[in-house]
Amino acid sequence: MKSLKKTYQQTIPQNIRAKMHVFFFKIRAVFVIGNKVECNCCNSNFSRFLDFGDYKKRKNAICPNCLSLERTRMLWLFLKDSKYLKEKTILQFAPFKVIEKK
Ligand SMILES: [Zn+2]
Repeated sequence: MKSLKKTYQQTIPQNIRAKMHVFFFKIRAVFVIGNKVECNCCNSNFSRFLDFGDYKKRKNAICPNCLSLERTRMLWLFLKDSKYLKEKTILQFAPFKVIEKK
């Protein structure tokens, strides 16, 4: 299995793998249609968030629509209602895509 993963990583360029990764998460979104959880970053509803992690999978971790993780949703929850966002400019290095848009 490790050699298959290594071959995959060595033969397909990283930017293509990233696009494929997003594409497969979007497909998986079909299987979690529902209203049990809501992503505060993209305001989408699902029956649950998808599991995420290479070595130790975390349950209900990633939003299948915007791919935000728990920490991203928590950060946006803080920034959205924070007085800092209204009063100051924030410089975040390597911002999360979904927060960068907002
Ligand atoms: Zn989302």
